[in-house]
Amino acid sequence: MLNAVNNEREIWVFSEHARGKLRAVTEELLHEARELSAGAWIVCAVSVSANRDIIEQLATAGAERIYCADSPTFNDWAPVPCADFVIGLARKRNPEIILFGGTDIGRDIAPRVASALRTGLTANCSSLRLGRYIDNNGRQFDDVLLQIRPVIGRLSATIVTPESRPQMTTVREGALRRKNNVAKGRGEIVQVAIGNTSPALQCKVISDIPAEEKPNLVGAERIVAGGMGMGEAQGFKLLHELAEAIGGQVGATRPAVDAGFTDHSRQIGQTGLTVRPRLYIACGISGAAQHTTGMSESETIIAINSDPTAPIFEMADYKIIGDVRRVIPALISALRRKGT
Ligand SMILES: Cc1cc2nc3c(=O)[nH]c(=O)nc-3n(C[C@H](O)[C@H](O)[C@H](O)COP(=O)(O)OP(=O)(O)OC[C@H]3O[C@@H](n4cnc5c(N)ncnc54)[C@H](O)[C@@H]3O)c2cc1C
Repeated sequence: MLNAVNNEREIWVFSEHARGKLRAVTEELLHEARELSAGAWIVCAVSVSANRDIIEQLATAGAERIYCADSPTFNDWAPVPCADFVIGLARKRNPEIILFGGTDIGRDIAPRVASALRTGLTANCSSLRLGRYIDNNGRQFDDVLLQIRPVIGRLSATIVTPESRPQMTTVREGALRRKNNVAKGRGEIVQVAIGNTSPALQCKVISDIPAEEKPNLVGAERIVAGGMGMGEAQGFKLLHELAEAIGGQVGATRPAVDAGFTDHSRQIGQTGLTVRPRLYIACGISGAAQHTTGMSESETIIAINSDPTAPIFEMADYKIIGDVRRVIPALISALRRKGT
């Protein structure tokens, strides 16, 4: 049974899983929630699955309490029933904060929840903190979620929702680091009964790329990324060959994606993915801030560009000044000769 009156302060993470495993972003958000709460608030996962393995994984990632429900209406992450579940639960429990992954699923459900609860939602935060906020009239608000996200170039904005609750954000996978020292949570299970959802309102996200074919750039150790300097879609074939030779994945800049050189799911940067590979090879990429914000934490960066003044060289560990159409085939043949 859920209490209508709630004196506990809760911070929630909407849980996502695929093929029986928690998505990395859910773990990252639970770790972040544990750090934010510093033991004072209860870190809860909200799960549209009551599967024992999922529950166990949520506890291992730090969930103290797990609100869960099972229903065929949640199949394929149907956004209306999933959102209704969170909305109904939030009205009973009044959480302080709800964190969603900046995934197709999270981005579909979170705005529905925020709108129904008449609260704010900040998309794509890159960092979260709890702090004090003083408004223009000198009113002071404590325990406010400081929702930090990039805006233009290297500028970022801190957005707050001082008065309405819950405070809500989405965070993309990889934007927050997984913490190593997160203690296992109690994993108290609260089974939630759900009502019926009107079938007329149901709809679902359909991806045209099968999950197993989606590139896994966020967890990749080696990335070969291409920009407009690759010239055309054919140029990306070279990148795939180089990526194969080093056992890596192919990424891209936004203009390269917009030009149809490759698929949108490979875009890295402010409005794409955040990656932290051990090796990042930037090919024909100028190094605009909107791109580098998504890859600047790569361990080693190699840049190939014909323009010696390209800004990407400022952050590169190894600089190759030259034409990608000559340099990349030479690299591929050298690697093949070496059998790497
Ligand atoms: C709100 C907003 C969000 C954005 N989000 C993103 C984002 O998420 N990700 C992103 O990438 N961009 C994003 N952008 C776009 C960003 O500002 C840059 O325009 C983009 O990153 C530049 O892409 P590029 O390096 O491929 O192209 P360019 O800037 O055109 O650079 C091409 C580079 O290739 C080099 N070159 C050309 N020919 C060759 C050759 N034959 N051999 C070697 N080098 C060659 C050139 O010297 C040049 O440096 C965003 C912009 C805005 C306004």
